[in-house]
Amino acid sequence: MKIKRFRSLAFKLTVWYIVILGAILVLAGLFLHQGFKEGLMNDLDKALVEITDEAHEKWWRSRGVTWEEAIEKAETRYASYEPFIQVVEISEEETRHVENVIRSERIPEGAFLLDTHTYFRADRTDIDSFIFRTVEEEQLSSYPLRVFLFPVRGPLILQVGVSLEATVAALNNLLIIMILTGLIIMLLASVGGSFIINRALRPVKSVVKTAGEITAEDLSLRIDSKNRKDEIGALVETLNSMIARLEKSIKKIRQFSGDVSHELRTPLTIIRGEVEVLLRKDRPKEEYVKTLNSVLEESHRMENLIDDLLFLSRVEAMDRSKGTEIVNIDEVLNAVIKFRTPSASNKKISIDTKNIKPVQIKGNRELLERMTANILDNAIRYSNPGDHIEIDLEKKEKTARLQIRDTGIGIPEESIPLIFDRFYVVDLSRSKETGGAGLGLSIVKWIAEYHNAEITVDSHVGKGTTFTVNFPLD
Ligand code: ADP
Repeated sequence: MKIKRFRSLAFKLTVWYIVILGAILVLAGLFLHQGFKEGLMNDLDKALVEITDEAHEKWWRSRGVTWEEAIEKAETRYASYEPFIQVVEISEEETRHVENVIRSERIPEGAFLLDTHTYFRADRTDIDSFIFRTVEEEQLSSYPLRVFLFPVRGPLILQVGVSLEATVAALNNLLIIMILTGLIIMLLASVGGSFIINRALRPVKSVVKTAGEITAEDLSLRIDSKNRKDEIGALVETLNSMIARLEKSIKKIRQFSGDVSHELRTPLTIIRGEVEVLLRKDRPKEEYVKTLNSVLEESHRMENLIDDLLFLSRVEAMDRSKGTEIVNIDEVLNAVIKFRTPSASNKKISIDTKNIKPVQIKGNRELLERMTANILDNAIRYSNPGDHIEIDLEKKEKTARLQIRDTGIGIPEESIPLIFDRFYVVDLSRSKETGGAGLGLSIVKWIAEYHNAEITVDSHVGKGTTFTVNFPLD
């Protein structure tokens, strides 16, 4: 699947990363700007106090110095600040108005006068306390002025102002530097971030690519985890084990359908061959009967096989939670034995049922019938005349134990682990004769698993075979 660039995880992560970084930068910038502004204002306020001190000291310490001279001296000393200094005299009458203003030459008449209420407040403040304010005074500066009011004595208020031009310029410079730096950081961060994110997600792309190449036809491919121990490594491992499971089951399905075709083909080939030979010329009646019997036998074999296949496909889709009931397994067993006793007697095989005790288990009656029938059929099928079969059923602690023992031909040791596999037959010649396709015990095993039962086989060639099934009782 091709992922559109702006929908990709890398793109989304990069955008998020930039947005968060941008927000952090803006916040940091705001704090920095505010701190810098406060610092500048503090410095300016300190300078205002110094200028005021200078003018004031010059006036009262040096005898005979007028306010004009004191103001001029302070102005000259702090020329770099270009301060505006004046002394405002307020009338002592009730009306309280500005009576006289002594100003430096730089201040035009009528300019730099605050309202009388402000002077009145300054006058009333303690001698040590200051009044700072920021005012607009267009006649003096196009920028706002920072003003300091200092009540000298009763009606006299010394007033010093400095334009905020330099401060505003410094703040603007800072802002420009911050914006430029911020933009450069964001640019570098977005390039770097997208590089890192793309790099981190590169393994995902390679996983997607390899996973895309894996098809039902070629499940042997595995994704290379490059020994990663991280989330990607875990994902790759999970995918690989999933593919392995799929490969195994597809292999099984292929093998199964191959086996089925083969098993169905064999009787058909036999039928066709025998009929073709028969039809080549006229034959005596007995030969027709013989061939027809053989055809009948082969069609029986096919019928049995198809019956087993249908059974398997039906039960494998069965819902385990439904179809279970309390089953008297002894009754099921006795019914199965009763049905098979004639054929056993024909083969001169005896069946001993005296050890069958009444036992109830939770299970599926139809499946249990099939299971016991398959084991018993095998016991009869693979025994010789004169052999006998013993069937036990009893409760053993928390299990119900079913045992079917025969004194028949037995199973070679190397075949025991394989007999439950589908289509496995021990010896073709003997099965051919007796007619099994190798599905009987795989059905038995499936039914045992369905009932959470454990099935074991004990067998010795020439001595006989014992099948034991332990059903859990809960
Ligand atoms: P089949 O249809 O050939 O009997 P099964 O799946 O029932 O297939 O059994 C698999 C193989 O196990 C048989 O081919 C047979 O050789 C062997 N087997 C099963 N039960 C017995 C038994 N009681 N005695 C001897 N051999 C047995």
